[in-house]
Amino acid sequence: MTLHEKTIEIRRRLETKFPADEAVAMVRVIFGHLLDYSPVDIVLNPDRNLTDYTSSKADAIVGRILAGEPLQYVIGEARFHGHGFKVTPEVLIPRPETEELVDIIVDEWSDKSDLRVLDVATGSGCIAVSLARALKFAEIDAIDVSPTALEVAKANAAALKAKVNFRRGDILALTPDGDGKEYDIIVSNPPYVLDSERESMSPTVIDYEPAVALFVPDADPLRFYLPTLLYAAASLRRGGGLYFEINPRTASQLRRAVEDCGFVDIRIECDMARHERFLIARKR
Ligand code: GLN
Repeated sequence: MTLHEKTIEIRRRLETKFPADEAVAMVRVIFGHLLDYSPVDIVLNPDRNLTDYTSSKADAIVGRILAGEPLQYVIGEARFHGHGFKVTPEVLIPRPETEELVDIIVDEWSDKSDLRVLDVATGSGCIAVSLARALKFAEIDAIDVSPTALEVAKANAAALKAKVNFRRGDILALTPDGDGKEYDIIVSNPPYVLDSERESMSPTVIDYEPAVALFVPDADPLRFYLPTLLYAAASLRRGGGLYFEINPRTASQLRRAVEDCGFVDIRIECDMARHERFLIARKR
């Protein structure tokens, strides 16, 4: 069977469950993974003969996607900020909005060098590693509560030749008075989806992604922001930046807390879907 024939067959199968544009995107990712082909390579090599082995691997991937598993877990990789990141079910699949957060930070700090950066709840390490790659001579610390997530993050840093100091650390155990370390940038994308939002979420997320990385009780929506906020108030240098990915539903409540901690230049920015998704503030 040729590549062209196989892409048509797979696309048709995927279109039984996904919108046409998503099916096309998935086909590209599948052959990117199986053949190391770019989307252009796929178009330029329609007559390439696929071995039975490759063809059956493609079928197995499609079967798992149709059963509801996220494509990134099936192939073990997600694209983020121009890099391929290893992902396992122990870490959240990096989201496009989080790339926007990285872009905001890079835009604001790319003319500086020797920055000290802390990424709180790093997960796959996507933010920390992308910043290490994009900022000049930055020294990056990153913490996560999950030892298995840290293994994934370390593998990503090694594969992408990024120097990041990973260590196990619980947000809830961050010391409000700091620990003597100083940072120019503190960034965090902690769990922020309310338990009550579960029912409106896709089973692909609920059934496969780590709940511990996603959810917070409705009664305590800022659970993972407040300790980071206090730690940042103590540990950011003058003029340092605090960057949070946020839930639009709790944006104004979080903004008040950030104000109360004495931060200035507080702003909330929207993501590409026009949801209030980022809170940015500066240490006075
Ligand atoms: N943006 C993610 C989602 O909607 C949530 C990320 C998080 O909880 N930090 O699935």
